[in-house]
Amino acid sequence: MPNPSVSCKHEGCEKPSDGGKGYCARHYAAWKRGRLPKARYKTCRVEGCRKPVTGRGRCAEHFARDYPGKQAAATGETPTPAPAT
Ligand SMILES: [Zn+2]
Ligand SMILES: [Zn+2]
Repeated sequence: MPNPSVSCKHEGCEKPSDGGKGYCARHYAAWKRGRLPKARYKTCRVEGCRKPVTGRGRCAEHFARDYPGKQAAATGETPTPAPAT
């Protein structure tokens, strides 16, 4: 449920977040069209990194850095590829 007392989470925007997803109506519309740098998929938790998450809240690059030698697929977030028919 939108909370008008919280401002839009788009950087620099101080409008109330009445649009949805924490954005004001204008930025929410832009977000839906994919116009915002923040994508619909989860992004890497590392500050300043906006790559999609591959495992443990990190993108492939930061996952490899923080968990050397581990497979991101081990988290179960990545579906196993279906066998070719
Ligand atoms: Zn906004
Ligand atoms: Zn990253």
